[in-house]
Amino acid sequence: MVNYDTVLIRFGELSTKGKNRKDFINRLYQNTKYMLRDIPGLEYRKTYDRIYIRLNGADPAVIRERLEKVFGISSFSFTEKVSSDIDSITARCLEIAQSSDKHTFKIISRRHDKSFPMKSDQINRAAASVILKNTEMKVDVHDPELAIRVEVHADDTYITAEKIPGAGGYPAGINGKVLLMLSGGIDSPVAAYELMKRGMQVEAVHFASPPYTSDNAKKKVLDLASMVSVYQGMMKVHVVNFTDLQLNIYKTAGDPYAVTLMRRMMYRLAEKIAKQTGCLAIATGESVGQVASQTLESIACINDAIRMPVLRPLVCFDKIEIIDLARKIGTYETSILPFEDCCTIFDPKNPVTRPTVEKSEHYESRFPYAELIEEAASSRETVTVRPAEEEDFL
Ligand code: ATP
Ligand code: MG
Repeated sequence: MVNYDTVLIRFGELSTKGKNRKDFINRLYQNTKYMLRDIPGLEYRKTYDRIYIRLNGADPAVIRERLEKVFGISSFSFTEKVSSDIDSITARCLEIAQSSDKHTFKIISRRHDKSFPMKSDQINRAAASVILKNTEMKVDVHDPELAIRVEVHADDTYITAEKIPGAGGYPAGINGKVLLMLSGGIDSPVAAYELMKRGMQVEAVHFASPPYTSDNAKKKVLDLASMVSVYQGMMKVHVVNFTDLQLNIYKTAGDPYAVTLMRRMMYRLAEKIAKQTGCLAIATGESVGQVASQTLESIACINDAIRMPVLRPLVCFDKIEIIDLARKIGTYETSILPFEDCCTIFDPKNPVTRPTVEKSEHYESRFPYAELIEEAASSRETVTVRPAEEEDFL
């Protein structure tokens, strides 16, 4: 029986070279260590294109579940290392073949240390012939049921049979910081996940309208933030009191333009806070056509209120796709809890689907929104959330 003692992490073919590559690997190394920080006894080593972790007795199932959440990992495998001589290598390949229930196999060798006296093709043949002699298995080079990978280094050789897909993307935090508008809905937590996957560090802003929105609604948003913070370690959430702005909008603009104005104010607030916190862009969970405020005309009119880039990772996703992702990352059940957010409370009956900038500015000239924005931004509450402890999930 193979007794795994090491996990080998691959990060695929990076298109970036030089310093960027070094930054990528260093960040991935830090993020991986952070993800496993509570597991004692692990020993880490990084090379040009791999990270190795010696398990020293840690449970591979726990390690696996954690590593599947680290962005930047293309795949990983559990392995037991052997010394770099051909007899040890072929013996281990045979053990792996014998302990599997597969019928066809292929050996894929790679020499990281070119001083090893055999070429990879010769290693493949040596290992394959031992397996052919001692088992009923056949070679299938095109579509093997069992692919045994052999990585030969100077002293040690790593032999693996299962390649577990990683989360892909870029290591969280390597591509700068964005401010995501986080509601309690289904979409924006999924947007957080997508942004993190592209290597961005996500900070969040949430607009609350107490007493019209409850503490439960706020707690729900912080719970969602905590759930997605797993992918980057922690997350700052700025909770902004939106009540005054919202009441003013309803008093001056009336029903059809309320949502447009509300969203223009949200964008302005987000832009202001983004600048204060060193975020280079803001982000939302908008998807074209989903609701009245997300027609292309609406998005254009809302976007007109600010200059900062707005990232919309879900812009072309169907609702079904978004729900599937929400289920995958575990936020769906919380998102559908029925706590009202500020938009549902002031939900207008007939929102315009083709708002114009001129009309928006006309309504906005009727109240001192710049002052209200300044006040709301400066009185915000900032909460730092972390992933819930494992026991909380059980
Ligand atoms: P979601 O499910 O993310 O709430 P939605 O389909 O309900 O999206 P809207 O409520 O119109 O659509 O919101 C679109 C986007 O605006 C959200 O994805 C989010 O980024 C932002 N947003 C909406 N309400 C708030 C809020 N109260 N606080 C912060 N951001 C918000
Ligand atoms: Mg919503």
